[in-house]
Amino acid sequence: MSEWMISVVIPVFNEEAIIRHTYARLKTVMHPWIHELIFVDDGSNDHSGEYLATLSAQDPAVKVVILSRNFGHQLAVSAGLRYASGDAVVLIDADLQDPPEVITRFVAMWEQGYDVVYGVRAQREGESWGKRVTAHLFYRFLRQLSDVPIPADVGDFRLMSRRVVDVLNSMPEAHRFIRGMASWAGFRQIGIAYVREPRTAGTSKYPWHKMWRFSLDAVTSFSVEPLRWVRRGALAVSAVAFLASLWLIRQKLMFPHSLVLGWTSVMVTLLWLGALQLGALGIFGEYLARVVEQGRQRPLYVVAETRNLGEEDSGTTAFSGVHNERERGEHHGQAVDFHRHTLL
Ligand code: UDP
Ligand code: MG
Repeated sequence: MSEWMISVVIPVFNEEAIIRHTYARLKTVMHPWIHELIFVDDGSNDHSGEYLATLSAQDPAVKVVILSRNFGHQLAVSAGLRYASGDAVVLIDADLQDPPEVITRFVAMWEQGYDVVYGVRAQREGESWGKRVTAHLFYRFLRQLSDVPIPADVGDFRLMSRRVVDVLNSMPEAHRFIRGMASWAGFRQIGIAYVREPRTAGTSKYPWHKMWRFSLDAVTSFSVEPLRWVRRGALAVSAVAFLASLWLIRQKLMFPHSLVLGWTSVMVTLLWLGALQLGALGIFGEYLARVVEQGRQRPLYVVAETRNLGEEDSGTTAFSGVHNERERGEHHGQAVDFHRHTLL
């Protein structure tokens, strides 16, 4: 099986303290396969860049993509995915929180025919209580909202087959939530439990404000549900307005002199205006949801294989499970085009 070419994409942002260890451990794990290690330097301003230059000079399997500034983890990974040429692509953080040894298990599952093998964090070592709780709640909340089932407690640590990577590369959306996009791609997916370790060196590059942005990207990329809450709110307010109006008018009729003059009309107007405004926003929300969905410009669907439909049949395109490097090389560009133009 060792004729497979496997790419590993590693986003790097100021990881000078650990990057050489990461390289060494990845090398030990990857030696059974032809491999490339694509380090994406996401605008580091420490010595990471120099270390990567040295590594790439020593080892031709080390490839480096240097971004012009810090674009953030998800975009760094997206850049790496573009350059990866393997039959399977592994995503792993540079900080060794996700043990590279798990990759061997990923590859084993891929060889059994799975297209996405993702790591499920059975335990999170060395992460603050706050981060664990918010992450726990966030994944469950997202699962409730999302149009596609996004597994809980799963990060970007995963292996993806060539055809899944091609699908991801054909998704032009600006706000990229990679693990969700991989779920969206479909095919056969499976999780493998592992223990997430504490960072061995350096500090987290994900402060709270980035986590918040990341969560917003996740929700807005995979759900228009929050826009619909307005419509539900409008219905609730209309019901209240209706019942309250009846009561207010009854009070006015029964006790015409004991109420402040004008109170009933002000209250009824206020309630109905509120309901009307929310209702209007709800309608806006429905249209906006459609604009948002259209704006992502995702392919509408992904074809896994076809039968009796000529040359696109099973085994001949990057969308139907080609593992052969040479053949895939020829079809790669076309396959993405085919996907964008024919399926959009
Ligand atoms: N990273 C990046 N750009 C950023 C922030 C982080 O490329 O703007 C990289 C970082 O070097 C690491 C990975 O993304 O390899 C995950 O970041 P980190 O470990 O800081 O996140 P955490 O594990 O704390 O969520
Ligand atoms: Mg980390």
